[in-house]
Amino acid sequence: MIEDKQITELIDKFGRRIDYIRLSVTDRCDFRCVYCMTEDMTFLPRAQILSLEELYRVAKVFTELGVRKIRLTGGEPMARTDVMSLIEKLGALGLEELLLTTNGAQLEKYAAPLKAAGVSRINISIDSLDAEKFKRISRVGKLAEVLTGIDAAIAAGFDRVRLNSVVMRGYNEDEVLDLVDYAVSRGVDIAFIEEMPLGEASDHNREETTCSNAWVRKAIEKKYQLVDSAEKTAGPSRYVKVADAKSRIGFISPVTHNFCGDCNRVRVTVEGRLLLCLGNEHSVDLRAILRDPLSDDAVLKQALVNSMEIKPERHFFYDSDHAQPVRLMNTIGG
Ligand code: SAM
Ligand code: SF4
Repeated sequence: MIEDKQITELIDKFGRRIDYIRLSVTDRCDFRCVYCMTEDMTFLPRAQILSLEELYRVAKVFTELGVRKIRLTGGEPMARTDVMSLIEKLGALGLEELLLTTNGAQLEKYAAPLKAAGVSRINISIDSLDAEKFKRISRVGKLAEVLTGIDAAIAAGFDRVRLNSVVMRGYNEDEVLDLVDYAVSRGVDIAFIEEMPLGEASDHNREETTCSNAWVRKAIEKKYQLVDSAEKTAGPSRYVKVADAKSRIGFISPVTHNFCGDCNRVRVTVEGRLLLCLGNEHSVDLRAILRDPLSDDAVLKQALVNSMEIKPERHFFYDSDHAQPVRLMNTIGG
């Protein structure tokens, strides 16, 4: 066993340095997006989810191992009671970046406090600008609140605001240009995400609805000139610039492109399961360590270091030779 004091970073057996974690702070949500949840979700009992203190402890130990970026996600992070107290403590950890992915419905109230707590960038999911389609996809609605939330985020002055849209045939594939127009008019970025086969979708057959980002890009190029850019952020987006505009367009293509070679991240589910790859089941039960009175931070740290041995090389979506993940996105932390 390597001695604890020597360990200062996380490097997997493929030489990839892990400096980014995605921390799921809840599996609950006020929406029920068709690609993410079933309509009648059963959420985890309270005793099974990490407390805010446990989430903070995990985050802090990760920072001691060189993690510089933390993204809070879920479920809907802003739906967790008292989540701001956790965010304020994380903001004081001295991270390079504290990031949040949200459905935006509560940003009118929380955008300014989030910025003050140290959140540097924010991603807001919006799949449609049409109230009826938005309702069909999210199964809840609240488009007006999300639009107000986006404006509040822009006004709060985050380093960057990015919209996230999952394009699905038969749901919103005719809105790609409208979404880009909207992003350009607001001067924010937008990323298109290919729908991933995580868990079973109850309202549609994913292989029929998934739109490749190559198709989305072509749709955008009917109106906009796109300029390729080498720019990358913490995540797997490939960005292009919109000519003569401030906005950038990101393409996250987990289905049609494998971006695992430079994977720098791991996920922690709200049950405290360290998930080494979005598309595989390899994981470590951190909750058991967190709740074992005999395990201190050194034990937790060692478990994180050891986990690097089982980080898979890549995911294999829609590959019949490999088991497909059974978890829905809200339990993983998207
Ligand atoms: N509730 C927040 C939100 O919607 O932004 C954060 C959690 S959500 C799981 C994070 C991101 O995952 C969202 O942008 C959502 O669109 C995306 N997502 C959820 N399920 C997905 C799937 N099956 N394939 C691709 N993206 C998915
Ligand atoms: Fe909720 Fe986000 Fe999943 Fe939609 S994508 S159901 S907003 S967690």
